[in-house]
Amino acid sequence: MQENIKKSQYDALVIGGGIAGGEAALNLANNGYKVLVVEKDLTIGGKMILLSKVFPTLDCAACITTPKVSEISRHAGITIFTSSEVTAVTKNNEGRFVASVTKRPRYVVTEDCTGCQLCEQACPVNVPDQYQLGLIGRKAAFIPFNIASPRVAAIDIDNCTLCGACEKACPTKCIDFTQETEEYSIEAKTVIVATGFNLFDPLKMPRYGYGKMKNVITSMQMERQLAPTRPFNTILRPGDGKVPDKIAYVLCTGSRDASVGNPVCSQICCMYSIKQAQLLMGALPMADITIYYINIRSFGKGFEEFYEQAKGMGVNFVKGKIGTITEKENGNLILRYEDINEGVVKEAEHDMAVLSVGVLPNETPSALFKNRELKVDAQKFVYQPEVLVSPARTSIDGVFVSGTASGPMDIPDSILSAGSAAAEAISYLNSKP
Ligand code: SF4
Ligand code: SF4
Repeated sequence: MQENIKKSQYDALVIGGGIAGGEAALNLANNGYKVLVVEKDLTIGGKMILLSKVFPTLDCAACITTPKVSEISRHAGITIFTSSEVTAVTKNNEGRFVASVTKRPRYVVTEDCTGCQLCEQACPVNVPDQYQLGLIGRKAAFIPFNIASPRVAAIDIDNCTLCGACEKACPTKCIDFTQETEEYSIEAKTVIVATGFNLFDPLKMPRYGYGKMKNVITSMQMERQLAPTRPFNTILRPGDGKVPDKIAYVLCTGSRDASVGNPVCSQICCMYSIKQAQLLMGALPMADITIYYINIRSFGKGFEEFYEQAKGMGVNFVKGKIGTITEKENGNLILRYEDINEGVVKEAEHDMAVLSVGVLPNETPSALFKNRELKVDAQKFVYQPEVLVSPARTSIDGVFVSGTASGPMDIPDSILSAGSAAAEAISYLNSKP
């Protein structure tokens, strides 16, 4: 087993290939450093590559992410492992980091796949598509989505029946069921933790009916319906495929709520909901969009103006906390809420409800470090001991944090954080012999 472990050395190991990890890697590589990016998913670009537009400018997220992802994947100084996970990191006596990395098989020879999708067409298996948040299905032989990087097929071996149809259809014969898991031992002088965040699981709030009522969806599912790589050509409610005309947003789902273990504000939910409301008014001009909120936190540059713009466009804002959502026979939803201004309980009928789910820490990174402690803060995000003077520093000398691994933040702040992590890592590398 020991002889099968492949060894290699890099200046920097970046854990996570989302926008914060990719940007940090790019900054390091542009300064001449050799970087390895380890991404657990089949594609780099993280959550941003799946979004519709960004607030408050309404620029197309994919149009920003795609060239960036392309630059990262083509950079001679950057090696990318997708479908791979860092399982342990130790710091040795020479001050170098040694990481164990597991690379799962894709069952497709990446270099030979042309992305023609003939394997997809031939595959008889249909399972929920995780990149479309289960709104549609995908095949067991599949390309994650059209702007995935790499845009290469993969075999979902857990759902594959080994029927062989994809192999027969593939014109380059690049499907290879003999591929096995590979183990690597990576030595790096510095590590950047860019493991991102998790979204709150609304199943933990059964009173909102998610998972039981088909027309209650999450904001990420709505994001996919609005994105350029969307599953349908319009907005549809999942219960019956009807175009909705009375949509409700439930802000602070899983944020500012100690009863579900997350008492803090997720910082981005107000603004992404206002963004989606504006996009919906464009996509469905006759629709009635209501945002139920506790407070609107529009604290960033241009955010307040963006909020005012939504009001001017006709989005309804109701200062109200949603208690329960119940379903009528026709699939419409009754939202029971406290009208905070009037101090009374009211009910309103909508044909679709979008839960604006909050941001939770990804608790993976602290468990990776074996002989040094990667400290976390009270909310379990990576702790920044010198947040005001050296925001990317962590409790381990030589390990830096980039993006939402250190706490909720929007995309511009993630990019800034990535720049800071790269600059601090470069300074650290320059200080070493
Ligand atoms: S071998 Fe698996 S992936 Fe290929 S077509 Fe059959 S079920 Fe689909
Ligand atoms: S695996 Fe083969 S059939 Fe599938 S996309 Fe790649 S080249 Fe085309």
